[in-house]
Amino acid sequence: MISVSQALEQLFSLANPVGTETVPLIEASGRVLAQDAVSQRDQPPFAASAMDGYAVIGSDASPGAQFKVIGESAAGHRFQGAVLPGQAVRIFTGAPLPEGATRVVIQEDVTRDGAMITLGAALDRGDHIRPAGGDFRAGATVTAPRRLGPQDVALLAAMNIARVTVAKRPKVALISTGDELVMPGETPGPDQIIASNTFGLHALLNALGAEPRLLPIARDTRSSLGLVLDLAEGADLIVTIGGASVGDHDLVASVAADRGMERAFYKVAMRPGKPLMAGRLDGAMMLGLPGNPVSAMVCGHVFLAPIIRAMTGQGHAAAPRKIATLAAAVPANGPREHYMRATLTDEGIAPFDRQDSSLLSLLSRANALLIRPSQDPPRATGDPVEYIALES
Ligand code: AMP
Ligand code: MG
Repeated sequence: MISVSQALEQLFSLANPVGTETVPLIEASGRVLAQDAVSQRDQPPFAASAMDGYAVIGSDASPGAQFKVIGESAAGHRFQGAVLPGQAVRIFTGAPLPEGATRVVIQEDVTRDGAMITLGAALDRGDHIRPAGGDFRAGATVTAPRRLGPQDVALLAAMNIARVTVAKRPKVALISTGDELVMPGETPGPDQIIASNTFGLHALLNALGAEPRLLPIARDTRSSLGLVLDLAEGADLIVTIGGASVGDHDLVASVAADRGMERAFYKVAMRPGKPLMAGRLDGAMMLGLPGNPVSAMVCGHVFLAPIIRAMTGQGHAAAPRKIATLAAAVPANGPREHYMRATLTDEGIAPFDRQDSSLLSLLSRANALLIRPSQDPPRATGDPVEYIALES
């Protein structure tokens, strides 16, 4: 058996980057920036007012001072001219600061009478000016690789970057295998169950920024599996679910081998999800996941997510781990690294009592996978442990 990190190294060696494309900014959220985006402009491009008020020369602004209002500067419409001693320009948030002015007195500190204003006795001290380039300057860079979130999109827009070069979305073909499976919405026969983890993995892949495609369920015959594998053409990654151990009906390895897959078979020292198959087939990477619903989903987080990140240029890194303290004591762990469905609250992290790898109801209630290292001794309440966060 090999460790999870050894298995990941093998998988990374099979995962080729999918290349890049240029997309409009409106489609950039969730994509991985592949080329640095460089601002061509300063923001703000001019010194601007941060408040509604009056722009004056700062040294004139003493309590009780009076000014003549000589004009107005609004957002999008600057005051054409300079402010001299004893003069003020009515100004609004975001408007360019007139030449000569060094301070904005907020309107709450001013009494106005016609064209004259008088400052109050207790003045707010701030100058309420946003300096030119105070947010960012021309040359400021959003550095690749970076998974772009809504905040990044806002910044790129402010930089006047209308198109960005991003990693392509890896095309992932998802194949369920098994005579016992039907699709959700169908009527299962008496010995049948509903294909579930395929849908979970589809959702996970979408959230990772991949382009998953659900193929028809392959039945447990060579011809059916071959037919469905034909449909996977064009995929960057083929993920099969189930049929990957050595039972009589476990055809994936043998059918893939007949089609020329250079196969690697890994027994990974983890729970759940011991058997893992990987290789390259017809220009695509192939990953064979265990069929047990929770095993498949855990392998999705532990292996599939890092593969998608590798394919999109985000480096070779395991699923990010965080630290929490135990809310309940846990017994010693065996030789396999254990990914336990757990709940993380303000009190800490606690695994569910039942951890059978078929129990999706508990996976759905879990918000974390608590990681028990191989041969970890018993741990007490309050001990720090590692976990992988499960996004809801
Ligand atoms: P297998 O690896 O094909 O022997 O499958 C192991 C277990 O996982 C069996 O109980 C299967 O019925 C179940 N299983 C396999 N694929 C799926 C799937 N896509 N959705 C739900 N259960 C599955
Ligand atoms: Mg099966």
